[in-house]
Amino acid sequence: MSALEGQVQTVLGTVGPDALGITLPHEHLLIDFTVMFAEPAAASDKGRAWEPVSLANLGWVRQNFNANLDNLRLLDEQVAQDEILLFKRAGGRTVVDPTPKTIGRDPQALARIARATGLNVVMGTGYYVDASHPPDMGRRSVDDLAREMIADVTSGVGDTGIRAGLLGEIGTTYPWTENERKVLRAAVVTQRETGAPLMVHPGRHPDMPMQLVELVRKEGGDLRRTIMCHICRTISDVRAVIDLAQAGIWLEYDLFGMENSFYPYNPSFDMPNDGGRMAHVLALIAAGHRDQILLSHDIAYKTSLVKYGGYGYHHLLVNVVPRLRAKGLDDAGLARLLVENPARAFAFA
Ligand SMILES: [Zn+2]
Repeated sequence: MSALEGQVQTVLGTVGPDALGITLPHEHLLIDFTVMFAEPAAASDKGRAWEPVSLANLGWVRQNFNANLDNLRLLDEQVAQDEILLFKRAGGRTVVDPTPKTIGRDPQALARIARATGLNVVMGTGYYVDASHPPDMGRRSVDDLAREMIADVTSGVGDTGIRAGLLGEIGTTYPWTENERKVLRAAVVTQRETGAPLMVHPGRHPDMPMQLVELVRKEGGDLRRTIMCHICRTISDVRAVIDLAQAGIWLEYDLFGMENSFYPYNPSFDMPNDGGRMAHVLALIAAGHRDQILLSHDIAYKTSLVKYGGYGYHHLLVNVVPRLRAKGLDDAGLARLLVENPARAFAFA
């Protein structure tokens, strides 16, 4: 089979899963997320939409995080490096950046950050939600998309020689589009071919993760190497998450640090805070699913960075881990969530 079997593929080459250490499975170091920009309707808000993020507008931008263009752009490599070093200083060793190419994936910059910081950085391939697809997506075939993803994994992106270590994040909406289905099918073909882990961003509806599971299963994908992102903003009832866990997938609680209840992408849904996320995680552990849980922040906005008043990439380690410990999770349990689970999730089949 694959020469990658059992290895994790970083932007600087393959490493054994034991080299990962404390891992953030879903963060964006650099991203151009302007595809999510929603210009406010009110005249008095429109001006704020185009301002740089500053202390003067920070409260408004935090509340309306996709209504400010500057907030959606993490484009400064030096800032990315400074911010991820806070995670390293707190004990972290590996970060997975699943930014797809049409929203700013930058293999060379990720490799430079990996070299400069000494952290392992794992890069993704594939396509995000329909709105970010290139104009010719309707004409592309599953085979053609799979060829592109296989090349990213096996020979590298373009002529960079820098290889992707996972398929994702593959974006879907609710209800999902034909092109999104096609991209996911191509990702499953690539997974079967290469053994790569698959990471899927579900549409915002509690039924969507199961629809995705069914497609991955039907196409012959490996559900034990399938990571379902953003569980907390998709399914509020933990019993439904426990049902979903029966499929054997990874359940990613990757919005730690998002403490606002207002969720502009789905205003009728109350976003849980870290307390709600921890409650789900502990309930899943109690139900026997400790070995399927991944934790991260999915940082994609300036306001999440320390430089802009946020909690930073080290929030889980400095703020959440002590609270989990206080709630009864012991060192072995924490190591499982932060180290051993990611090591299994990102190793090639
Ligand atoms: Zn993400």
